[in-house]
Amino acid sequence: MKIKSAEFETSAPTLAGAPRLALPEFAFIGRSNVGKSSLLNLLAEKRDLARVSDLPGKTRLMNFYCINKNWRLVDLPGYGYAHVSKADRADFNEAAADYIEGRENLRGVFVLIDSRLEPQPIDLAFVEWIIESGVPFAVVFTKTDKQSASQTQASVARFKAVALDDLDPPPPVFLTSSKTKAGRTELLRHIDALL
Ligand code: GDP
Repeated sequence: MKIKSAEFETSAPTLAGAPRLALPEFAFIGRSNVGKSSLLNLLAEKRDLARVSDLPGKTRLMNFYCINKNWRLVDLPGYGYAHVSKADRADFNEAAADYIEGRENLRGVFVLIDSRLEPQPIDLAFVEWIIESGVPFAVVFTKTDKQSASQTQASVARFKAVALDDLDPPPPVFLTSSKTKAGRTELLRHIDALL
């Protein structure tokens, strides 16, 4: 898919503030600092579509962007600050959970995972929760440029074994880097196929 236009539409603190339906939506979520803003900028080919920063936890809003005038990219608030004991929706941002559970035009959620880390409890809890929700999702491993391909493969295999083992079919998995642009074409192709 070629990106011809990418425009900020609106920010919303709750599902009620989301734009009127009409366009299919693809949402991105992950722990703060996972590289979500960088990935969204890479996908849209805009330096400043989403803000990139070293300061984690900067926004609690859902941001809606209109892409090619025919789909929306939705930047959901990061998670990672609430205490997690079990896969309880209360552990995640309430608005994001409402959005994922209740948005009719949501075609898919991309769950971002830092490719360098051991499976993190909050990521595992979130994946468990989204599996329960029944909403289609894919897993996107970020920052693959920061280590060797074999380290990334090992990390992905560990995550699959712990979090995705029971799933038939397994969700799509993407290996990405905002530095090298790895995975961009594959992600956009996947979205295109679901439009
Ligand atoms: P967000 O909090 O999830 O939106 O994460 P950001 O996109 O703001 O990125 C957090 C930090 O990780 C920033 O310092 C980015 O420059 C860095 N970063 C993000 N993606 C990559 C990547 O693919 N490779 C490398 N090397 N650094 C990245």
